[in-house]
Amino acid sequence: MTSVLLVMSLFVPVFSLANTDTREELVVGVPTDRCPIFYIDEETGEVTGIGIDLIHLAAERAGYAATIKPVTEHTLKEALDNPGYDVIVPFGSAIKSESGKETVVSQNLMRVPFTLVSKGHKSLPPLNELRIGMLSSLAGVVDTLREMYPRIKIEMYDSMPECVRALRAGKVDALMHNSYVWSYVLQKPSYSDLSVQLATLISMDFRAGTPDTEKGREIIGNLNKGIARITDVQREAIVLDYTSRNLYVNDFWDNLYMYRDLLLAGALIITILAILLIRAYGIARRRQDRKLRELIETDPLTGILSMEGFKKRAEELIRDYPDNQYLLSFNNIRNFKFVNEKMGREAGDELLRFWAERSMSVLSEEETMGRITGDRFAVLRRYKADEQLGNDLKEVIEPVNNFFIDRGQEMRIQLCSGIYALTPEDHENIDVDKMLDYARIAEKKVRSTGKSGIEMYNPEQWEKEKQIVDISGYLPAALKNEEIQVWYQPQIDSESGEICGAEALCRWNHARLGWISPAVFIPILEESDLIYELDSYVWEKVCKDLQRWNRQGLRRSVSVNLSRSDISEGRNIPGFFFGLTKKYDIEPEQLRIEITETAYVEHPEHLIRTTAELREYGFQVEMDDFGSGYSSLHMLKAVPVDCIKMDLHFLTGSGDLEKSRIIITQVIKLVHMLGMNLIAEGVETRAQADFLKEHGCREMQGYYFYKPMPVDEFEKLKIGDGS
Ligand code: C2E
Ligand code: MG
Ligand code: MG
Repeated sequence: MTSVLLVMSLFVPVFSLANTDTREELVVGVPTDRCPIFYIDEETGEVTGIGIDLIHLAAERAGYAATIKPVTEHTLKEALDNPGYDVIVPFGSAIKSESGKETVVSQNLMRVPFTLVSKGHKSLPPLNELRIGMLSSLAGVVDTLREMYPRIKIEMYDSMPECVRALRAGKVDALMHNSYVWSYVLQKPSYSDLSVQLATLISMDFRAGTPDTEKGREIIGNLNKGIARITDVQREAIVLDYTSRNLYVNDFWDNLYMYRDLLLAGALIITILAILLIRAYGIARRRQDRKLRELIETDPLTGILSMEGFKKRAEELIRDYPDNQYLLSFNNIRNFKFVNEKMGREAGDELLRFWAERSMSVLSEEETMGRITGDRFAVLRRYKADEQLGNDLKEVIEPVNNFFIDRGQEMRIQLCSGIYALTPEDHENIDVDKMLDYARIAEKKVRSTGKSGIEMYNPEQWEKEKQIVDISGYLPAALKNEEIQVWYQPQIDSESGEICGAEALCRWNHARLGWISPAVFIPILEESDLIYELDSYVWEKVCKDLQRWNRQGLRRSVSVNLSRSDISEGRNIPGFFFGLTKKYDIEPEQLRIEITETAYVEHPEHLIRTTAELREYGFQVEMDDFGSGYSSLHMLKAVPVDCIKMDLHFLTGSGDLEKSRIIITQVIKLVHMLGMNLIAEGVETRAQADFLKEHGCREMQGYYFYKPMPVDEFEKLKIGDGS
């Protein structure tokens, strides 16, 4: 405390003169990186330290007002070349500036002890044989050292951490700095492995220097006078003041270093807690997932497995019991929606629960069952013997069928079941979806018969279903891509031998299946209600061709086929045809519309009305395939058609040839007598053609004359004016 007061008292005159100061200014360049000699006070932001107090004292004693200016140059040697400073402090001796200028230095301001610091307490060789590291800002000291120890090797580093890194890496044997700075720097906790080598203590001068000029010499001269007036007591007081202060303040990294064990323990605890938390979360999630899965895999109505659950369980069983012969069945209640409607939804649900319960009661551990949707159940059952089926009938199927009857109500349930028998291959590549599809197809077969019962799956059913999908699913694309073409089969007038007309027949060159016969795809399209799309396309094509031929002066007539499915209530076929004749500017008589005989049998009234309307518009209507149905004669009377198309195939296909001939001759007569035209189709031989001609049938169509052909081939034929 006394020393602090003493130091303060030394400066009082300097500070009290500050405002009225008439003394010459002395700009003193100083480093700031060596606490406690030169450093920046964090509170005031000014440079302070032992060196600063000494300079102020010396300058004041010499009659100067010292202005302290931190050097911005890399080293003090460089700063010597900057005329902005009057003097630079500190130098151990007169050294050359960076640019080589000679310098002058003042008297020694104080003696500064310099020490080596090494890693650990090892003993070091003499200074002359050492590699030492120093701060590059100490370049002046370096020069002095080199003069004192010519063989010493000195490496320079920009900062203290770099110096320490080099020492720790063994690039240098020790670090050299002044002892006051060491007493500050070594307070850094992470430098606790460094130790001061007291044996190497050397003393360095602490002088002000400036280039050797006249002004420089004058300043140095004046300063020397000031220095001479500083007493040792004053010097010691200043040193004591700073070295007794606790100047070192731990920074963030120091604290991190100091509390590293604590921090590590904390981090460990946090990590353990985090792991525990994640595990707890994982357990909770798994529990939640399991619950969700249970919900997904269970059917809420019956309590048995849902479709998802069934598929999973079935897969497990098939995998776990490769030697079991399994049957997978798909079961459905016929017209369940009517059961619901008639008996009420509640009763419907009750029935489903009963069915599930009954089925479960006959299943073993190696079997399973699930509700797929609504009234559809799937069962994976082991095949043991045929009597098992009888048992199932007694225990499950009959009680289900009689569910309402047994409860005094007039409603018998009809179950439809499709069964797929698993093959050994199914045990290797388990695909429950595929097996369900197979069983479903067999079930569909039962349903399509309109009855209840059981059907086993067979591969043909699958192929047929696939074909249906290929055909009906692909039709729109086929029409767009012109895979479907209209071919023509010429019709002949046997009197003149000329072509008198043609039948338009469609041909499909399927992108994947190749050429497919109308006999295959027409029934499929009829069943899936798509035939109208195809037919309207064919009719329009035919009308376009007729228009083109009309424009070429070739007036032809063409027969087109009308499917029974085209004629549905609400579809105005006559109006559609009439629209086409207007659009393509053709006469209605040019279109002859063939309606198959069996269609008249199925929907007589509606068809008879349509036929009459078509004729009113002026179209010719032909009854196709006459003779194939069972009420042909009755039809002749009831249906107002213009022409009968007699298919020889039906009459000559089987049975007594002589009888066929009699029928044919009588039909020809009958048709003519009823005032209708007749055309024979399926004429394959000359004998047939001659026979028909002999008995008065003029128009004929058949392979004997021409097969159906693409339109360009048809156009090449020499044709009269047609009809
Ligand atoms: P369809 O209307 O009775 O047509 C006559 C069928 O007999 C055609 O078969 C024709 O190629 C075939 N045919 C002609 N002459 C002979 C012969 O001398 N011997 C034999 N064995 N067959 C002969 P295609 O083209 O296979 O058509 C079969 C059936 O498909 C047609 O019978 C018709 O009902 C239907 N169809 C064809 N094209 C269409 C169409 O565009 N729309 C509709 N709705 N049905 C069509
Ligand atoms: Mg036809
Ligand atoms: Mg026909």
